[in-house]
Amino acid sequence: MSDPFFQPISGFDLPRFAGVPTFMRLPHVDLEGARIGEVQVGLIGTPWDSGTTNRPGPRHGPRQLRDMSTMIRAQNGATGVRPFELVNCADLGDVAPNPADIIDSMERITAFYDRVVAGGILPLTGGGDHLCSLPILRSVAKAGPVGMVHFDSHTDLFKDYFGGTQYTHGTPFRRAIEEGLLDPKRVVQIGIRGTAYDSEDRDFADAVGVRVIPIEEYFARGLDDVMTEAREIVGEAETYVSYDIDFIDPAFAPGTGTPEVGGPNSFEALQVVRKLRGLNIVGADLVEVSPPFDQSGATAFLGVSVMFELLCLLAEKAAKT
Ligand code: MN
Ligand code: MN
Repeated sequence: MSDPFFQPISGFDLPRFAGVPTFMRLPHVDLEGARIGEVQVGLIGTPWDSGTTNRPGPRHGPRQLRDMSTMIRAQNGATGVRPFELVNCADLGDVAPNPADIIDSMERITAFYDRVVAGGILPLTGGGDHLCSLPILRSVAKAGPVGMVHFDSHTDLFKDYFGGTQYTHGTPFRRAIEEGLLDPKRVVQIGIRGTAYDSEDRDFADAVGVRVIPIEEYFARGLDDVMTEAREIVGEAETYVSYDIDFIDPAFAPGTGTPEVGGPNSFEALQVVRKLRGLNIVGADLVEVSPPFDQSGATAFLGVSVMFELLCLLAEKAAKT
């Protein structure tokens, strides 16, 4: 049993619709906080969407994710894992971005995560658009390239946008591979679909050895078979998990900027994460929830439900080390 200080507020002590919302009702411990040295898994908001090229809004994601996360209870319904008892988890607050300056915002995010990683804390991020993953990887992969399991409708591997712009939410993993943050042969992208500008991203993936599993293949082979292959690709070395909410069918997750029809349902959305149990996971994110397009709040609730599954992976990993 971890320290009582690090337990979420029980719905039996304070009804879940009451109180100040933190991620999963955990204590808020900022980087200057007295107990930061005891945190093992840190939940962090990156309220920033300046990499968005079409419909915006994920800058409002962390606040909505925190609000909907008050629905999350302490025990995983499928696996029985009780992450808050395994390790000390806390809400480390938000990184303060500069919404008018992409480079400055990325530097701020990396500076924040450098301190998290140096403190031995495994980061779980609620975004933010998918460009947030790049400055996070600059911290997580500081010691050398990591593998990645990437759930998304899109590869986010494009070279550039608008005739040369390097940093958008369609380019983070192209930059991460160029910068040596990801080992492309240990990257698997699952769920890719939708209309496209061209095949430049897929050609790059093929050239560097990124494994792309399009949605047609995912449904033809089935979830278990695909996830077995994903585990083999990343192996036992350090692996990051990046989860774009648009991986899920927009019938279940409409509140996102770049929806693509014909995706997995909300059960599969959770099940694919459970299949990653036991891997050497060094961090994870859930990005691209856009509250202005999420009229019912269902997308944010699904988003934090995915975050809880990711948290269970990170807690089991942190408990082993
Ligand atoms: Mn994405
Ligand atoms: Mn996407």
